[in-house]
Amino acid sequence: MKVAEHVPLAKLTTFKIGGPAALVAECETIEDIKTAVALARDRGLPIYPLGEGSNVLAADAPIEKLILRLTRAAHAFETVDDASVRVVADAGMHWDALVDAACAAQLWGLENLAGIPGSVGAAPVQNIGAYGREARDTLEWVEAYDLASSEVKRFTNAACRFGYRESRFKREPDLLILRVAFLLSRVPEPRVGYQDLQKAAAEGRSLATSAAIAAAVREIRSHKFPDLAAWGTAGSFFKNPFLDEEAAARLAERFPGLPQFPGPEGTKIPLAWLLDHALGLRGFAEGAARLYEQHALVVVTAQGAHARDVDALADAVTRKILDIAGIRIEREVRTLA
Ligand code: NAP
Repeated sequence: MKVAEHVPLAKLTTFKIGGPAALVAECETIEDIKTAVALARDRGLPIYPLGEGSNVLAADAPIEKLILRLTRAAHAFETVDDASVRVVADAGMHWDALVDAACAAQLWGLENLAGIPGSVGAAPVQNIGAYGREARDTLEWVEAYDLASSEVKRFTNAACRFGYRESRFKREPDLLILRVAFLLSRVPEPRVGYQDLQKAAAEGRSLATSAAIAAAVREIRSHKFPDLAAWGTAGSFFKNPFLDEEAAARLAERFPGLPQFPGPEGTKIPLAWLLDHALGLRGFAEGAARLYEQHALVVVTAQGAHARDVDALADAVTRKILDIAGIRIEREVRTLA
């Protein structure tokens, strides 16, 4: 296990923001995790599990926590039957590397989730989703170390209590995700209904294999989302709100052209559309933080930005949406303080 003191969270998060963490422990094995837990207890520090820091806004002030990072990053395929293959991946693996490995093995199920920053361990936490697919669609089980009971536990898909960008792991920080299993298909299962993918197909792009879909998704994302190397960002900052049918219809009357997506959890309203068309907020800034010009749901920060800039921007946007649409929006990005 490697331990370091006073590591700036700015170095561990894609927002490139955040004060020094009291301790950062990099753990390879369960024994390492137990050592880190003992160290945290000795120092009276709570433990905060962190992957690649791509969905976190860390506070500017010193963070009195032990930040625990899992470094194991292997994966293995297991044949299940003629139609399906299980892939089991360690939490520390880079998510997009897993997507690549699945596509290279000509398996289906993860390709629409190509190009999402972050680690495999973070994927179930917020049930990452994109272009009509979510992690929960193919996820079979999650193995987690329970920091409270010191046991390794396995959670079936149903036990993970997934929702839109939601799971039990968001509310139970004692569960440290170690490994994740996905059940992938050998049988082609292209899901290319989203407009951006339809447009790519209409422009002649092949979407015939899972690898081709992954490549198309990465290309689309490269035009919509900021380059992590150039800017601080955590991707979409807010969740899309869900309304009941009546409230959604009333909103659509007030804002003609508002897209709506009815589903089992209610009618999903694309918040980026409201921010852009109803409020004209592309590029809206507070300090060194602003809403990205190419995509208003994304907060980007310039060098030297502070968490307080992002908070001020997020609070202003939240108030504006409440005022104009009567909707109380929620952050998708988690706060680490
Ligand atoms: P988009 O394709 O412009 O669509 C805007 C919103 O409308 C999305 O949030 C999407 O919901 C919804 N939508 C569009 N077409 C839909 C359809 N045919 N059926 C149901 N819902 C539909 O979205 P974007 O903002 O450029 O992002 C592209 C994709 O990447 C989206 O799926 C988005 O969710 C995803 N993404 C995910 C994360 C994350 O997991 N943290 C971060 C950034 C972007 P959905 O969100 O349900 O897809």
